[in-house]
Amino acid sequence: MKTPLKKIAILGSTGSIGVQALDVIASHPDLLQAEVLTAHHNADLLIEQARKFNPNAVVIVNEDLYTQVKEALASTDIKVYTGENALSSVLEMDSIDLVLTALVGYSGLKPTMSAIRAGKPIALANKETLVVAGELVTGLAREKGVNIFPVDSEHSAIFQCLVGEFHNKIEKVILTASGGPFRGKKADVLATVTKAQALKHPNWTMGAKVTIDSATLMNKGLEVIEAKWLFGLRADQVDVLVHPQSIIHSMVQFEDGSIKAQMGLPDMRLPIQFAFSYPDRYPSAFPRFDFAQYPSLTFEKPDMETFRNLALAFEALKKAGNMPCVLNAANEIAVEAFLKDKIGFLKMPEVVEACMTKMPFIPNPTLEDYVNTDKETRIKAYELIN
Ligand code: MG
Repeated sequence: MKTPLKKIAILGSTGSIGVQALDVIASHPDLLQAEVLTAHHNADLLIEQARKFNPNAVVIVNEDLYTQVKEALASTDIKVYTGENALSSVLEMDSIDLVLTALVGYSGLKPTMSAIRAGKPIALANKETLVVAGELVTGLAREKGVNIFPVDSEHSAIFQCLVGEFHNKIEKVILTASGGPFRGKKADVLATVTKAQALKHPNWTMGAKVTIDSATLMNKGLEVIEAKWLFGLRADQVDVLVHPQSIIHSMVQFEDGSIKAQMGLPDMRLPIQFAFSYPDRYPSAFPRFDFAQYPSLTFEKPDMETFRNLALAFEALKKAGNMPCVLNAANEIAVEAFLKDKIGFLKMPEVVEACMTKMPFIPNPTLEDYVNTDKETRIKAYELIN
């Protein structure tokens, strides 16, 4: 019997993950179909993608660009929607089998919740969603019986190690980190690094936000919190290990002491494809890892004194409540300011730490509390920067 097509909605199809996801879909036309594509403001690329993949519907969030997209697709039967709310309502379409959330930052929270409410399985590439409101999001997913498949390479690695072991207890997970472009550097060097240097990641090609987060180790910090929620772990069950070659994407240690690792060349298409294909594996033409080319895989402890963000993330995770939400909002503003050359590299963790000290702590936040915490932290972070 022919396998039915898996119809995928991509939230954020014009970003780095979205583009790579379409690459995966294009290589499996008999298995995968792009059902909905959404973009915030990159109308030109959205139009190009829509013409190539012929989805059922597209959303251009920025309303000023609606006419451009609508007119460009007038000769097709692709439905065109616009506005922030369309992002959520379009996900209720019956034909969608899986939603890939590849939005950047806090903006991913609302549409991800809508997709879960609509009963759609999630391929989650937007880690900030779980960092900000992990308890709420995973609670809703349990209530709706919806699966959340990780797309982040580390969490996909853990998930792949757990296949066939879901009933076995995890002793701990070991999240690997490349260490970013400034591994081994101390504060005196970090004080002078430029945006261009920070945007040059040694192993991965990614969007600007996550690349800066990788350079400050905040990315690993956010991933520690993401791992807690995805796999139901305590803070002391998540270890971070620097592994500069980025070949082992993460590991799981079980109760008997056995460790499983998932390996491969750093290529985001692999975790994206696994989130689409699970429980199966699809063939792929991605380049293969060759052990002989890598005579040594090396490991070291992360330097949390120099790269404060990772320590702050562990602190936020232990404190829980709205503290990870504060961490995330302050970091989003700090990264944005760094990308606009308004602040230096070391000011980013300073802003995050100051916000964590100054914002009121809420032990059991509601969705409204998260929304307010996010908003007020951003205001506080702006004040600290300007
Ligand atoms: Mg990652």
